[in-house]
Amino acid sequence: MEKATRIKKIPPYLFAEIDKKREAAIKRGVDVISLGIGDPDLPTPGYIIESLYRSVQNPTNHQYPSYIGSLNFRKAVADWYRRRYNIELDPETEVMALIGSKEGIAHMFWAYIDPEDYALIPDPAYPVYKTGTIFAGGVPYIMPLRAENNFLPDLSAIGTEIAKKAKLMFLNYPNNPTAAVASLEFFQRVVDFARENNILVCHDSAYIDITFDGYKAPSILQAQGAKDVCVEFGSLSKPFNMTGWRIGYAVGNKEALANLAVIKTNIDSGQFNSIQDAAIDALKGPEDQINRMIEVYKKRRDLVVDTLKNIGIDIEKPKGTFYIWAPVPHGYTSAQFAEMLLEQTGVIVSPGNAYGNYGEGYFRISLTISEARLIEALERMKKYLKFK
Ligand SMILES: *Cc1c(COP(=O)(O)O)cnc(C)c1O
Repeated sequence: MEKATRIKKIPPYLFAEIDKKREAAIKRGVDVISLGIGDPDLPTPGYIIESLYRSVQNPTNHQYPSYIGSLNFRKAVADWYRRRYNIELDPETEVMALIGSKEGIAHMFWAYIDPEDYALIPDPAYPVYKTGTIFAGGVPYIMPLRAENNFLPDLSAIGTEIAKKAKLMFLNYPNNPTAAVASLEFFQRVVDFARENNILVCHDSAYIDITFDGYKAPSILQAQGAKDVCVEFGSLSKPFNMTGWRIGYAVGNKEALANLAVIKTNIDSGQFNSIQDAAIDALKGPEDQINRMIEVYKKRRDLVVDTLKNIGIDIEKPKGTFYIWAPVPHGYTSAQFAEMLLEQTGVIVSPGNAYGNYGEGYFRISLTISEARLIEALERMKKYLKFK
């Protein structure tokens, strides 16, 4: 049976070679340490688990949930935005529950992209933006994220014709994989650009709560006029260590949310009510739990950045996310460096080009691993790389 063209158009899986080498290393008995996966190692806080236990006892929760999420969940998200960003959202029309933010991001393309339509996509980036565009038959127009622009897209480099033609723009700050952050002033320029060119901006805020050294990341909805042209995707996965639970939300422009809802009602049936109930308690819960988690990541961040410096890879400490994005040592491509590191030390890092062509020359370390294992990985890297 011939598979669909949309599958054939998906870029090759760049971790295939690394996966093979990892399997081989494990077979040889190597103690492999992966710094490649961005999935919190800390458990979901107890009060959220307790909340799920309670909610699941209620038989009304065993039936189909609302497609767009319970009103109580949507109210909890609106309260969260009021408290943290001073933004008013109408829970009835400006907030929607998602089965993880990835679900909403992937479906947004079906709501806006017809064959041959343009979407403005950052590179390097979370792969779903590009594959989502391709699945819908659209054309991803690449916005390079370059170190000299602090890994922000250069809006003036987008030609007028492309800008007029584009229907969507995707952004993600604090950024995966570069760990860069964006100022409210930058978001304001994006909103002005989008209003001028009639583009819907989709901001992926998965790491908005994971910031360091007193820095607080803005919501794009804090920019003037943002609700006219912006949707922000949020997730409980990263701030509450809930990646397995699959709960997120979309907020902002109500027409865009209504269009997304049309797609969703024809594909899924919403997230389990008890997971939404637990998520409500997560959002209402004590904020010091997020602060404690940030302290853990901060300690790991400092360990990695200090060690890299010692090896001769000098980067600034990132202000957000649980990633370290660093240039590979001279003479290697990203893939060569990642493969060499695995072969020689048993440590896995993500090659930068796995996130797009403009990620070439970099590697990504994820801080979602215990301090003991991280230190072990860093010791091995130091030993091997220091005098090369
Ligand atoms: C982890 C991640 C998400 C996915 O979040 P879910 O809510 O778990 O689907 C979205 N965007 C980026 C950039 C991520 O790294």
